[in-house]
Amino acid sequence: MAFSRTRILSALSLILIFVSYAWAAGPNISLAVDATEAPRKILHARLRIPATPGTVTLYYPKWLPGEHSPTGPIVDLAGLKFSASGKPLKWRRDLLDGWTINVEVPTGENEVLADLDYLEPATLEEGFSSGSSATDKLLVLSWNQVLLYPKGWKAEDITFSAALKIPDGWKYATSLPLSNANGNDLHFRPEPLNVLIDSPVLTSQYLKVVPLAEHPPAELDVASDSATALEPPAEVWDLYKNLVTQAGALFGAQHYLHYHFLYTLSDHVAHFGLEHHESNDSRTSERGLIDETERKLDASLLPHEFTHSWNGKYRRPVGLATPDYQQPMQTDLLWVYEGLTEYIGSILTARSGLWTPDQYREYLAIVAADLDHLPGRTWRNLQDTADAAPQLYFAPKPWYSWRRSTDFYDEDTLNWMWVDAIIRQQTKGKKSLDDFCKLFHGAPGGAPTVKTYTFDDVVNALNQIAAYDWRAFWTERLIDHGPGAPLTGIEETGWKLVYTDTATDYFRSDERDDAQIREMYTIGLRLRDDGGIIDTIEGMVAAKAGIGPGMRVIAVNGRRFSAEVLHDAIKAAKGATDPIELLVENTGYYKTFKLDYHEGGKYPRLVREESKPDLMSDILKAK
Ligand SMILES: [Zn+2]
Repeated sequence: MAFSRTRILSALSLILIFVSYAWAAGPNISLAVDATEAPRKILHARLRIPATPGTVTLYYPKWLPGEHSPTGPIVDLAGLKFSASGKPLKWRRDLLDGWTINVEVPTGENEVLADLDYLEPATLEEGFSSGSSATDKLLVLSWNQVLLYPKGWKAEDITFSAALKIPDGWKYATSLPLSNANGNDLHFRPEPLNVLIDSPVLTSQYLKVVPLAEHPPAELDVASDSATALEPPAEVWDLYKNLVTQAGALFGAQHYLHYHFLYTLSDHVAHFGLEHHESNDSRTSERGLIDETERKLDASLLPHEFTHSWNGKYRRPVGLATPDYQQPMQTDLLWVYEGLTEYIGSILTARSGLWTPDQYREYLAIVAADLDHLPGRTWRNLQDTADAAPQLYFAPKPWYSWRRSTDFYDEDTLNWMWVDAIIRQQTKGKKSLDDFCKLFHGAPGGAPTVKTYTFDDVVNALNQIAAYDWRAFWTERLIDHGPGAPLTGIEETGWKLVYTDTATDYFRSDERDDAQIREMYTIGLRLRDDGGIIDTIEGMVAAKAGIGPGMRVIAVNGRRFSAEVLHDAIKAAKGATDPIELLVENTGYYKTFKLDYHEGGKYPRLVREESKPDLMSDILKAK
């Protein structure tokens, strides 16, 4: 829908947006992006930047909001040339910071012309917005990839007038306000740099626009590599309408004037979700909507990113609210930014019907079981997973259980559920975490704005909902070393984690979709379906026997390896005395390892704890 953005602009947003840039104190930069070669994986850009004679320092955006890391793809910036009045200018990169470029501007010049290309990954690369983003049929344009901005200004004080040329016949969707469009030439209204970078454009030959809500307007913009991928059963759209309604009911007010779910379905782009104030850039496989199993596994992605409009974009930890993209972010409060979002996003998935309560519990059982088999908790606490997040987001998967990763997503799902249970208990059912969200993230609502917070602000807001020693609670949660997972929240909501010898539907789908074999809870191995060992759980039987990540299982009890052969051998060893024999290859050498494991298959699930009231079912009910 080429003009979807214009259609939903209200008079109010026109006024607010006009005021916001009319008062901007800094330079006015024009940016023209040519994306017509997106299928070749290259974008061209030209900028006109006001300048004064002397050395002008320009930055390529480095620390990106929502990515919590210095992920600005500077190595993919190419073809960089500067000129003034048609004459080339000298430039040199700063020796201490690769994202900083110094340009020499001669006397008498007041504008620098910058030409640059952005090289899209040419083969499939994961990662966040700088991962693969272009195919033959679509492109997700993140503006930070195609611009430079001058030193000395806050992002909100620099105005960008952006234009974008998209391939012929392609449609587009974005929350960036459009000024006018002439065929495939799009001209956007002047906006501050922070709004521009917060407003990616999804453009595709195949794009479907599904209205989800009217006041304030929200729409789902789905692009794919094929037309078929955009046609799930009609009731699927209703579930996303429920999501918008349920989030509105939970928070009580919205901090957007209009909202775009930019959803990319492709097997040739990086898969992740990235939050923005008035949109989210979420990406999954081509069959992510039309295949029921994939839809179930991806169900919580859009709820998570939508929740960020309140928790992350509007309310933001003070250390993450940096004035531009050059200053490093401090990630210590990601256990609120991401942890609470993961919890709220998952319960909204259930409240909207994208998951049944059973599917929610099957998902939560895996989260809890994995954390319960994470020996890295004994040395790295939850706080350190947040503090080290800029590095941990890019940690390799081998040695995960001992290194740990950005576990504040999962561990805080359990912790915030615990908080929800405590609030309900302390107030005898009168209040819940929903009330905290209304107080902390809710009214007054309206146009996007940022309200920062500290640890103390979180504690104080919780105390306004229910009297409790929240400071001690969270301090303990953040420095806890387990060794097991914090399972009290699940137990206090009336459920408990158990292991049975049959897998849940969700568990089986997750294994198949990931092409992974999850025997972490039995012999302590996570494998690829070709036998490659992704990780060993330190302290469990396989690790103790001498097996490590990077090795490959060739045979189980003398039979060629497959997922079924391994699962069956583990089951058959229950109560037996013979060890399970694994023939393993390691750097060209073969060795047989004998595993003395006789407890059978173990698959996590939640079962009712009858001695406690079933608060979890209340938590998951639509409001
Ligand atoms: Zn997130």
